[in-house]
Amino acid sequence: TKLVYSFSEGDKDQKDLLGGKGANLAEMTNLGLPVPPGFTITTEACRAYLADGHEPAGLADEVTEHLVALEKTMGKQLGQADDPLLVSVRSGAKFSMPGMMETVLNVGLNDSSVRGLAEQAGDDRFAWDSYRRLVQMFGATVLGIESEHFGDALDAAKKAKDTTNDLDLDADDLAALVETFKGVVREHAGREFPQDPREQMDLAIRAVFESWNSPRANVYRRQERIPADLGTAVSVCSMVFGNLGMDSGTGVAFTRDPASGEQGIYGDYLQNAQGEDVVAGIRNTLPLTELERIDKASYDQLLEIMSTLENHYRDLCDIEFTIERGKLWMLQTRVGKRTAAAAFVVACQLVDEGLIDMDEALQRVTGAQLAQLMFPRFDRDADKELLTTGMNASPGAAGGVAVFDSPTAVRRAKAGEKVILVRRETTPDDLDGMIAAQGVLTSRGGRTSHAAVVARGMGKTAVCGAEELEVDVRGKKITLPDGREVVEGDTLSIDGTNGEVYLGEVPVVASPVMSYFEGSTGLAENDDLVAAVDRIMRHADGGRRLKVRVNADTGEDCATARTFGAEGVGLCRTEHMFLGERRELVETLVLAETRDEREKALAALLPLQIEDFTAIYRAMEGLPVTIRLLDPPLHEFLPDLTELSVEVAVARERGELTEEKEELLASVRRLHEQNPMLGLRGVRLGIAVPGLYAMQVRAITRAAAALAAEGITVLPEIMVPLVGTVQELQAVAAEIAEVVAEPESLVNGEPVEHQIGTMIELPRAALVAAQIAETAEFFSFGTNDLTQTTWGFSRDDVESSFFSEYLETGIFGVSPFESLDTEGVGELVEIASWRGREVRHDLKLGICGEHGGDPDSVHFFHRAGLDYVSCSPFRIPVARLEAGRAAV
Ligand code: PEP
Ligand code: MG
Repeated sequence: TKLVYSFSEGDKDQKDLLGGKGANLAEMTNLGLPVPPGFTITTEACRAYLADGHEPAGLADEVTEHLVALEKTMGKQLGQADDPLLVSVRSGAKFSMPGMMETVLNVGLNDSSVRGLAEQAGDDRFAWDSYRRLVQMFGATVLGIESEHFGDALDAAKKAKDTTNDLDLDADDLAALVETFKGVVREHAGREFPQDPREQMDLAIRAVFESWNSPRANVYRRQERIPADLGTAVSVCSMVFGNLGMDSGTGVAFTRDPASGEQGIYGDYLQNAQGEDVVAGIRNTLPLTELERIDKASYDQLLEIMSTLENHYRDLCDIEFTIERGKLWMLQTRVGKRTAAAAFVVACQLVDEGLIDMDEALQRVTGAQLAQLMFPRFDRDADKELLTTGMNASPGAAGGVAVFDSPTAVRRAKAGEKVILVRRETTPDDLDGMIAAQGVLTSRGGRTSHAAVVARGMGKTAVCGAEELEVDVRGKKITLPDGREVVEGDTLSIDGTNGEVYLGEVPVVASPVMSYFEGSTGLAENDDLVAAVDRIMRHADGGRRLKVRVNADTGEDCATARTFGAEGVGLCRTEHMFLGERRELVETLVLAETRDEREKALAALLPLQIEDFTAIYRAMEGLPVTIRLLDPPLHEFLPDLTELSVEVAVARERGELTEEKEELLASVRRLHEQNPMLGLRGVRLGIAVPGLYAMQVRAITRAAAALAAEGITVLPEIMVPLVGTVQELQAVAAEIAEVVAEPESLVNGEPVEHQIGTMIELPRAALVAAQIAETAEFFSFGTNDLTQTTWGFSRDDVESSFFSEYLETGIFGVSPFESLDTEGVGELVEIASWRGREVRHDLKLGICGEHGGDPDSVHFFHRAGLDYVSCSPFRIPVARLEAGRAAV
């Protein structure tokens, strides 16, 4: 297979093979935009390298072939002594992982070509500066030397000149520094800095391959749910220089505001700078609009290119560019990361501009983004002490104690504290801390700095470039111009939507999007965001096939859910009605030895249950309500065996032991189970405790009959849990049939309208679905238990036990309790659906496990042909949106 592609060979749809960067460089090349020539080594080559531990056969030859072609195009050879071709070696995976992997610039410089470069550029200082950057970058990323060793040497050189500014070092200083750096390499890597340009390039390529597996890249992938086995592509690109004087520079830009979606010029520019200086946020940048003053020709060309790109990609793009002595070069573009709010607003703008249609707009937003928009924000009217205002880098409202380094952020967050990570600028090494923190505050860098880009991607609140703050990371404090100080442990509140930073805790209020879903605000005409959300939600609702129901157990939750758009109750867990004071009644019921005791407990429960169901029916008038018969893992309702044994022993010791206590202990011992989740629960309990399910069915049908008599439409669906064989279901169905024929359950002499169905939450039930469907009128997949029983994972234990190892080592990309395991558990869902529907064509199919609100899982359930998903109230809008997206 072909392992290397010239930029003129690929296109934007080859991200799998060429990575995002490589694919888009190819696309821009083919659009005729000014891209420095180069080639891309495929992700396939990287995967082979990582699997085998060496470069795949043929790679070296293909690289040579492309290098020779590149040299021909450029009219000079890599590292050529009198006029060197220099290249950058850049990582680029399918999904953007900003700053997580390696890049090496200026490859091709050595002791002789540095002089050729100086000659050609007419600038000694520039050449030596480029060479020292190469030795430094190469040493750190390729040879794995701690970057401080280089940093210390650089600081020493500046100190010797009594300056803190790199620009005060002249060509001689930099030449000396190169020697020092080479010494650092010798000392810490045990080898010479390679003078052979090709060896430099080959080692740099290998380092980029290996950086796929760096710890920070792994952390980032887990966070973003990026598969661990994709590998990165490597783009080798001829160098252009933004550090050739004040008529040169480098910058980044967005084609629209990535925070709000507003159209305009958004970006940062840095004169006389190279590569990563802007993204790293090391020096404070100029707003891009300043470029018009500095270099109007390049500015105009850049605007034209941005408009070309937007029209071509039909989306917001971000770009990296360099100007070399007045000539503009495009180094990168991609469909830009944006805030959740911008995603909705931009999608609708693009529709209005005729670039995309509503179906595509729906594809441009995600349920995860919608969920973010439902977060609360700071109360505008609250008293607050404003410290400063920085850049609104990633929206949201976050509060917590100030911490100044990543390990402290992780430690304090683990201990349950909310923290705000405060840094001068963040580096990829701060990733753990950013994940642990509620929000991130930096004093340097713009909207495109690492902190901003990563925070937006994670949906984490961030304020960047708050320049008034003097951040002393070592001293763990912030100093303000007026002398105020904030030390580690002080509470800060940061508003990523407007960039404000407050001292102390600021109360938060609901988001306008949340208010919209709650129906508490009308459609504010001037609120672009709410209008965009409304428009996209309507389109999603209009197109989706899956209905969305709610998992709710009270009338109140049902009412909330209904405003969120719930189309029925998919799961009412009746055991939740038996907590608190009613627990005792259930305990009595389960432990009852005589019929009399049992009936007394049941009689006490009946009116309570009728009340419960009446409230739910009223809230859900006209919509189906699935009520599940009791499914308590017994240990949740009985006294703890150990505690009770101790109590009894103590009482016996004191001579205070009653006969009652002793009998209770005997009963609890009799019912005690080693594996309660696999024990006497669900339908098993219904069969073991006579009268229990009958009482519940009585309450369900009597409440329904009473309301029906009032003219209220109620559609109860009686659901039997944890069925493994149709015989269990038949036994319960027979009991139900008797109860619904009781006079109090009749409406106009007929049994009140109802359906009988079952949960499918055991592999066996899925496999014998055809038999079960003979009796069941509907199936509802209990994917929590189905995951537990299919994998043999205890749902109560594993997520806090070995799952972290599984996630770290990549055995899982995501917990199967969070996102459905479509290959295993999903296969059972499909099998049960087919087999069930073969027997009963109109068999209603739903899912009520936690997966009902998980975006990826919703898409699967759509494909599997289910009728509805059911999830907790606050996830309903997300499920509606994703169900709509799945149907496009
Ligand atoms: C399930 O098992 O997926 C389910 C919805 O039931 P519960 O979570 O109550 O066991
Ligand atoms: Mg269950």
